[in-house]
Amino acid sequence: MHNILETLQSPPPKLSNSDIANIAKENYAFDGVAKSLGGERDQNFLIRLDDPDGRCLTLKVANSAEPDDLLDMQCAALDHIAAQNPQLPIPSLIRTRNGDKWSTFSANGNTYRARAFHYLPGLPLYKAPVDSRLMRNLGRTLAQLNIALRGFFHPAARHAIAWDTQNIERLAPLCEYLEDEIQRDQIAQYLDHFANKIKPSLTGCRAQVIHNDMSFHNAVVDPENPYLVSGMFDFGDMLYAPLIQDLALTAAEVPLGYKDPVAHAAHIVTGFNEISPLEDQEFAVLPDLIKGRLVLGLLIDAWSNRENEWVDDREHAAGLREKTQRSLQIFDEMLDGEFEDLLRNACGLSTKHLSRISPLPPAEILQKRIRFIGNASYYSYNEPLDVVRGEGVWLYDTQGKAYLDAYNNVPHVGHCHPRVVTAVANQTATLNTNTRYLYDALTDYAERITSTLPKELDTCYFVSSGSEANDLAWRLSKSWTCQTGGLVIENAYHGITDAVFDLSPAEHIDKNAVKAHVEQIKAPDDYRGPWKRDVPERGLHYAEYCTGAIERLIEKGYPPAALFMDMILSSSGIMVPPPQFTQEVYSKVRSAGGLCVADEVQSGFGRLGKSMWGFEISGVIPDIVTFGKPIAGGYPMGLVVTRREIAEKFERDCEFFSTTGGNPVACAAAKAVLQVMEDEELMSNAERIGSLLSDGIRELAARYSLIGDVRGSGLFVGVEMIKDSETLAPATQEASAVANKLKTEGVLIGIDGTHSNVLKIRPPMVINEHNANFLLEKLGQTLSAI
Ligand code: PMP
Repeated sequence: MHNILETLQSPPPKLSNSDIANIAKENYAFDGVAKSLGGERDQNFLIRLDDPDGRCLTLKVANSAEPDDLLDMQCAALDHIAAQNPQLPIPSLIRTRNGDKWSTFSANGNTYRARAFHYLPGLPLYKAPVDSRLMRNLGRTLAQLNIALRGFFHPAARHAIAWDTQNIERLAPLCEYLEDEIQRDQIAQYLDHFANKIKPSLTGCRAQVIHNDMSFHNAVVDPENPYLVSGMFDFGDMLYAPLIQDLALTAAEVPLGYKDPVAHAAHIVTGFNEISPLEDQEFAVLPDLIKGRLVLGLLIDAWSNRENEWVDDREHAAGLREKTQRSLQIFDEMLDGEFEDLLRNACGLSTKHLSRISPLPPAEILQKRIRFIGNASYYSYNEPLDVVRGEGVWLYDTQGKAYLDAYNNVPHVGHCHPRVVTAVANQTATLNTNTRYLYDALTDYAERITSTLPKELDTCYFVSSGSEANDLAWRLSKSWTCQTGGLVIENAYHGITDAVFDLSPAEHIDKNAVKAHVEQIKAPDDYRGPWKRDVPERGLHYAEYCTGAIERLIEKGYPPAALFMDMILSSSGIMVPPPQFTQEVYSKVRSAGGLCVADEVQSGFGRLGKSMWGFEISGVIPDIVTFGKPIAGGYPMGLVVTRREIAEKFERDCEFFSTTGGNPVACAAAKAVLQVMEDEELMSNAERIGSLLSDGIRELAARYSLIGDVRGSGLFVGVEMIKDSETLAPATQEASAVANKLKTEGVLIGIDGTHSNVLKIRPPMVINEHNANFLLEKLGQTLSAI
């Protein structure tokens, strides 16, 4: 990022009028009087020639940080545009006496490069009367300019610059320069939104070399007819980018300071659309690109204000900042889709979002829910959250309030990831059927997922939920072993079917009601249990509990068919089982004739950061692995993978068919999840952001004695709350108070564990550093208030 800011750190040249008059004479054979017009990056001069017509030209002295190839690109583009559309009012380049595109000269011990252009007279756009016709014409002229540039390319067009909306998320570190905390949070949130939702769509939009700076100071209008654009200049920010970025920039910047920036932006868009009709996808990203340009302006301004000592017109910068903030606020206040609808409407096109249903007030929804749903499925938080929309790591309630979702693992790659959404939409619109037919999506996914597993786990059964997956794993185990006992870890949860509810003591209100064929093994809790983290062999000690559990099962006449183990022991209090524990328990279960089932419903898909699957951390190979929740990013899907021999035995006894299990839409969604994980490197993100979070919470633990322990792995963090560091008395009510207070602060977390005193932090895998810091800040504030 520093490279792209470097150019902006280089002050414009400061040459004298007489230096330039001499250059004009020597290099261009022009006699005249020079007058500096200033400039943000270059220094521009007006040269009034000593001839009877009083002709003028401009001389542009380039910033010393501007590479030659960029100057070359600008010159080549001007020639190209002039050849394509000679009517366009752009400056035409005047060659030097030697026929060069620019002249190089020395002054004050430095070397400079200057280009000469024919002068384009006119009234600066920012001085022109505010008028809808002018805005429309500006949009039209911009579209014509882009049409003229359509076939142009230059190797330098791919260069990276800070003023490039399509890559705005690179400037996220500049948020720190924003002084207003609320604005900082809002902008960080916008950048997330941009990265998650807009950028992936942008990559599918028409792209070409664009002007990228047609703002109020780079155009002039005809003073006789102030509705016509008579000049467009400053091609210094040109680059290869989505075409729509150019329009967004003009629509964002030109109306700055106008009373109704939305209406004027709409006029500019309308004019552009008349000449160069926009595509649906371009309309969809346009509002966010318009906002993006304003955000870009605020970020660079905040940074420049602090880092660039040479900025002398601070008053002007402050005025611009204020106007930009105001525009941004106006755009932000619009409802979702409202801006897009307005722009489409202005262009005479049908709207996409207007038929919105106004949601019921939360109290009414709650009443209705209790009436029709009952109380068995409880809601989170004392005051339940009424969410209407999700995106990336954010959830939004009916009031538009944003919540950092640090709890939900089902939207694994972020809420409504556009690639998952598109995969589901396209497949739904093409074919949705079942496994009685052949289709590539199923076999393709089976091949992909088994390639991430040990080679002996080679046979897949597709179902529609984690519970079903575990239910089937239970059936497979009983079929293979001809035994009927079940082993689970203390306070385990494996699902809702009749069979796996028996394997889920966590959900039993009467903990003594666990069935006789199921035994619980004490969790290897090295914080609370008898062997602490400083005992290297603790895993083996805890595994001894398994011996007793197996003996009890055998005594009762239920030798074990299977051990089920959630590989992050979430409901037992969030712990990574020590490898020795898992290995030893596996060995004991197998000696008793049972199978080992790894439940990866919570721990899988790279969440633990270190590996794709939780069982890998323990260095074991399960006989059966079950998957659910995050597998298809929210589309219902479950999966069981086992060894071929286990499957074959099962298939001798029964048929297997799940109507919706592994349907093409589920497979398309699941495949998109794997692809996004890979492309966005989400497993390493889990490791990195997970450490940042855990380390940050450990720092808080040093200040707040309520935090007894911080554990977990990657983006599965458990924070155990205690009342007393001697007795470790569980701080159950305080944990609940923290989760509820955090919710009001805009952060969602959960609670888990045998004593319901472990904060559960398990965000979508796309959480970034800013989000993590936001969470830490809010957690700190919450702890200090409790
Ligand atoms: N296993 C574990 C470890 C789980 O956490 C869950 C869900 N919380 C399940 C199985 C059941 O999954 P589902 O709710 O999709 O049926």
